[in-house]
Amino acid sequence: MKIVDIIPTTVSVPLEAPLRHSNGEHWGRFVRTIVEVVTDEGIVGLGEVGGGGEGAELQFKRLKDYLIGHDPFQLEALRYKICNPTASLYNNRLQYMAAIEFACLDIIGQKLNQPVYNLIGGKLRDKISFASYLFFRYENQELGIEEVRTIEQLVRHTRALKERCGFRTHKLKAGVFPPEYELDAYKALAAEFPQDHFRIDPNACWSVEDSIWFAKQIESIRNDYLEDPTWGLNGMRRVREKTTIPLATNTVVVTFEQLAQNVLNPAADVILLDTCFWGGIRACVKAAAICDTFQLGISVHSSGELGIQLSTMLHLAAALPNLTFAIDAHYHQLLDDVIAGGKMEYKDGQIAVPDEPGLGVKLDRDRLQEYAEQFRRQGAYCYDRDSRRPDWYPLLPNDRWADPEVQ
Ligand code: MG
Repeated sequence: MKIVDIIPTTVSVPLEAPLRHSNGEHWGRFVRTIVEVVTDEGIVGLGEVGGGGEGAELQFKRLKDYLIGHDPFQLEALRYKICNPTASLYNNRLQYMAAIEFACLDIIGQKLNQPVYNLIGGKLRDKISFASYLFFRYENQELGIEEVRTIEQLVRHTRALKERCGFRTHKLKAGVFPPEYELDAYKALAAEFPQDHFRIDPNACWSVEDSIWFAKQIESIRNDYLEDPTWGLNGMRRVREKTTIPLATNTVVVTFEQLAQNVLNPAADVILLDTCFWGGIRACVKAAAICDTFQLGISVHSSGELGIQLSTMLHLAAALPNLTFAIDAHYHQLLDDVIAGGKMEYKDGQIAVPDEPGLGVKLDRDRLQEYAEQFRRQGAYCYDRDSRRPDWYPLLPNDRWADPEVQ
C-alpha cells in the first residue's frame, strides 16, 4: 500500500465558554488541524494536531511531497523519515509525526479489519475513566452559561458536570487566582465530594516555596497527584523532597531523554502521556513500558483534542496495563466535534473504546466544512491573550494573579 495524498484541514470548534489558565485564556474555541492520509487502495486514515493553524497546514503540505509512496505499515521507517532520533533538530516535528502515525494506524486497522488497540497489545478495558477538567472560565452570554470565578460557582459547575457526565475524579486548572484562593477552592471541592479523587494543575506557575506550602495544605485530601506545581526538573525535585503527594508532569518529562533523566534522578512520580507530544500512540506505549519497569505512574494528558485524537487516547488507555488513574480530557468543554455522529458520550465518567476497525471514527463532512469556515473567519491564535486583561502576561513565578473579587 502507498500513501498518495495528505490533506490538512484546520478547524475552529467552539467551547461552552472561554477557559482561563495561567497563561491567559483559551478564546472560546479550539483550533485543530485534521489530516486525511489517502492511500492507493482508497483507504483514508485520520490524524489530528493542535494549535498551529496555517503553520501546521504548511508542515503537512511539505510532508506530503516527502511521504508520497510511503507504505503506511512501515511505521518505524516513518519515524526515522520524519523525526530521525539521531538529529534532535527534528524533535519539533514530533507532533506532525504523531498526526501521520494516527492516520497510518487508522489505515492499518481498516486494512486488517482490526481496531487500533489490537495493533498495540489488545484491549484490557472496554471503557476509559476520565477526570472532569474544571476551569475558571468567563461567561458565555449567548448560551446563558454563567462564569466560574467564585468558589460557589465552581462547586455548582462541578456538581452539574458530575450529574451530566458522572465524573468521580476532578482536576482543577489553577494558576489564575492567588494560591490561597485556589487552595480554598480546591478544599471546597474536596469537602463537597468526599468520595471522589482530586488533582490540581497550576501549569507550573508557582514558585518552589509556594508549591511546597500548597502541597502541605492539601495532604489530607484524596489527591491523585499535584500536577506541575512549578517549572523545571530541578524545581520539581525540590518540591518532591518536601511533600508526600505524588507529583505529575506534562511539561518536564515529554521526551525519552527526559524520561531517562527522571528515572536516574526523579522529579515526577506520574508521567502524563500525550499522544501528540510524544510522537504518536506507539511512542506512548513505549514510554508507558519504561514507566512500568521503573514503577513510575502514568496517566494521559489532554491538549484540547477533538474526537480523532480523543480516539487515539481511548485506544492507548485501553491497552496500557499500568494505567491506574482516570485520564484527562477537555472534551466536555467542547460544544461540538467534527466526527460523524457528533461528540462521543460520557457515561458514569467514562467513554467507551471504539471497537470499529482503525481508530473507529469517521469525519462528518458538513461539520468539517462548517468549522473550517469558522477558522477562515476567526484565524488562529498563537498566544492565549486574556481578553479582559489585555496587558496581562505570565511571569515566572507568576504573582500577577487575577483578583477573584473583581475578575
Ligand atoms: Mg498539565
